Amino acid sequence: MNTTNFKSTLRRLFFVPTCAGCRARLDPIVKRTELNHGLPCFCDKCLPLFYKTTAQMCHTCGKVAGECTCMPLKNTFTQPYIPSLFFYHPDDKGLASRAIYIFKHKRYVDLCEFFTAELAPKLEEMLSLLEIEPSECIFTYIPRTNKAHREHGFDQGELLAKSLCKGVGGYCTLPLLKRRSGKEQKKLSHRERRKNASESIFANESRRILRGRAVSLNELFDGKTVVLVDDVITTGASLGRGISELKRIGAKTVLVATIARCEIKKKK
Ligand SMILES: [Zn+2]
Ligand SMILES: [Zn+2]
Repeated sequence: MNTTNFKSTLRRLFFVPTCAGCRARLDPIVKRTELNHGLPCFCDKCLPLFYKTTAQMCHTCGKVAGECTCMPLKNTFTQPYIPSLFFYHPDDKGLASRAIYIFKHKRYVDLCEFFTAELAPKLEEMLSLLEIEPSECIFTYIPRTNKAHREHGFDQGELLAKSLCKGVGGYCTLPLLKRRSGKEQKKLSHRERRKNASESIFANESRRILRGRAVSLNELFDGKTVVLVDDVITTGASLGRGISELKRIGAKTVLVATIARCEIKKKK
């Protein structure tokens, strides 16, 4: 048993795990299979459903989510596709939405590591295509608002970025962005909400302690690639804003990785 599995088993003995697809109680004893990466967070019925979801194809380019080349509207990416696991529709009541809901609302470490085990090879593949060394990449994420962070007690983007950085062998994880809490969000229309959300993301310019010494942002970013992690891409507005902020403070290249993406419908 490796350390991950040992920790996972300990966790599961204290907090009885539930299926991220249907919330059925799961056996705390880890059943190791290649399909669940030794991290069973889906029941035997939902695990095949999860893989069925990841095999769904984009209506526009005919590729699966992880290879879909359709970029969001506010796209400032310089990458051929967005490493991701599945398409997600907020109105859809299927497994994808339920798993994302649980990922956002529960601190479900096994689910985060399961998603990482699925996502890491896709990110590695893209980095090698772009001839970027994973060990040269800084990982960061689109943060939750302070209010949401307080309510849920964690930031799922941070969990995922850390886990992905470890999985891919990245340089380090840093909270490079901040988000102002948009208090009046409720009163805004959909379009205004998006605008407001994207404008509230800005760079966190405080000095960093790295490997025991304070470094300036310039020193930190010199020639570096930043992998910006987000759980779900909907309009791409937050990501667009995050990328331009990261570039403004000196990032050479910013790449995006995500668990799920809303499919982009082509305008007719
Ligand atoms: Zn299930
Ligand atoms: Zn596509």
